[in-house]
Amino acid sequence: MDTKDFEQTLVLIKPDALRHSLTGYVLSQLSEFHTGLRFAGAKIVRVHRMLAEEHYAEHRGKVFFESLLEYIMGASHYPDEEWKRRVIALAYVGPGAIQKIRDIAGPTNPHEARVKRPGCIRALGTLFPVKDASGTVLDERMDNLIHASANPADAEREIKLWFKPGDLPPAMRIYESRASDEHYYYKEGKLFTAYEPGSVCLLAPGNVAWVSDIEALRLLAGGRKASCSLEAVAAKYLINE
Ligand code: ATP
Ligand code: MG
Repeated sequence: MDTKDFEQTLVLIKPDALRHSLTGYVLSQLSEFHTGLRFAGAKIVRVHRMLAEEHYAEHRGKVFFESLLEYIMGASHYPDEEWKRRVIALAYVGPGAIQKIRDIAGPTNPHEARVKRPGCIRALGTLFPVKDASGTVLDERMDNLIHASANPADAEREIKLWFKPGDLPPAMRIYESRASDEHYYYKEGKLFTAYEPGSVCLLAPGNVAWVSDIEALRLLAGGRKASCSLEAVAAKYLINE
């Protein structure tokens, strides 16, 4: 089959959609009946800070960055019910998957979405003021219900960030994966190839991982620069740990 038929994209059903009981609506808008796309993977994720920071790395340093992290971590919509903080991560596959889902999602800003694309998913979103400690409004956070990958490079980075190969059925794994032949442990921002008390095992020999992650860990363990940061690799192996 043509690789175009296997285009994949990451969708996140964000905490505002869960909070406002719009999950079923979003899923039905994205269903095969409407989009011709199929599920490649699905996962309920408690988003920790490291994953949020990696996912939104391009927005680091912006005024709304901190509020964006709190939003995707669920802290904004579930301030007092920590156990409810989660997102639904979905990978969809099919021809034109990225653009099809961006079209149904609509413009980033919900107010603009309502005017320009009535009926799109984000038309049901809202804007929320971002304030400093004294209550002065600094910016507006866009609570826009879903995330959808913007282009093939982002889709690859994001699917590899939110999913391990084993989270996807073999026929749905379009990025190269293989078994690790090393141990890798993570503790407080550092990488180890042998067990350290208090560390988390990222990979053990025989665990199947994305080839790009294995390659990055090998370089980082050797003190060299890799194509991505240690946090970008470790974040997904710490999901729901
Ligand atoms: P997403 O990445 O969530 O699919 P997008 O690609 O349409 O949305 P991005 O520019 O990647 O938009 O922004 C990511 C998220 O950051 C947006 O969904 C929104 O919640 C928030 N955001 C983006 N720009 C702004 C802004 N100027 N002010 C406040 N929040 C913003
Ligand atoms: Mg984006």
